[in-house]
Amino acid sequence: MLLVLGNATVDEAMGVETWPSPGQTIIAGAPKRDLGGKGANQAIVAARAGADVRFVAAIGNDADGRWVADALASEGLNVDELMIAATATDRSLIFIDPNGENAIVSTVNASLSIKPDTVEALVGDLAAGDQILMQGNLSLDATRAGFAAARRAGIHTLFNPSPLHAGHGELLGMVDVLVVNEGEARSLSQEFSAVASAKALRDAGVREVIVTLGGRGAVFCDASGLHHVSADTVEVVDTTGAGDTFMGVLAAGLFTHRMTGIAALRAASLAAAITVQRAGTLASFPARNEIAAILKLKAPA
Ligand code: ATP
Repeated sequence: MLLVLGNATVDEAMGVETWPSPGQTIIAGAPKRDLGGKGANQAIVAARAGADVRFVAAIGNDADGRWVADALASEGLNVDELMIAATATDRSLIFIDPNGENAIVSTVNASLSIKPDTVEALVGDLAAGDQILMQGNLSLDATRAGFAAARRAGIHTLFNPSPLHAGHGELLGMVDVLVVNEGEARSLSQEFSAVASAKALRDAGVREVIVTLGGRGAVFCDASGLHHVSADTVEVVDTTGAGDTFMGVLAAGLFTHRMTGIAALRAASLAAAITVQRAGTLASFPARNEIAAILKLKAPA
């Protein structure tokens, strides 16, 4: 079982010609609404990749929250464990430039309402050998409580600390698999090259460190050393969700399909290359049969 504990949001994506500067107003294209949140995204992709996913997030008692719950249910995820926060459902505004690059502004009030003791109780339902995957949207105390409880119970810990906060570095000693992009790796390790960063992060106590490098692929660092996997050369439409696709497939590859680190990394890269060729968040994720083909599994009926 893979417990994905994170956020679920309403995403509004808008195309922009240039990035706004302070004090400037710019005109955007018509907004497109999609389910989002790194927690929801990674849970959906991991489930499509065959993982036995249990997803927990907090939503508001509002129309957006009901829309999010319906969207998750239509993905086949159990929504009974969604928590209702005394705040609005979290949302993200996503701006996408003509090169497919994005800039995102998110609210996290619902996610911050999840308390450390709630997280400990959730982890208490897991068994040794299960996995917990968290991102950067919960409070530092809740995230720390989840990893500490998991460590005590022999549960594998996966961390994608995005958005990165001060204090995430102190959690690294409790993390088995860390996935960060280049900027996050630099901030966490205060090194100046991704390769140096991956090594520094392993020295901080992480068992397997993966640094994603956008169109340049990803590096993987474990006890056997440092490995690089190139990204597919593709026509980029919108990179939103690439990191989440990568994380979801990597988690399923490592723990559900028991792939080697390098094989799971290759699968994650191929899946993320599909996502960058499509617009949207959920709308851009590879389908079950596409991921199955990548994982070389029998395609689902
Ligand atoms: P995002 O926030 O846009 O979802 P991220 O910053 O978390 O992404 P990236 O390093 O940009 O993470 O991308 C994650 C992975 O997606 C990369 O390691 C790569 O496999 C794939 N990817 C990203 N950009 C491209 C691209 N231009 N071409 C092919 N693959 C890509």
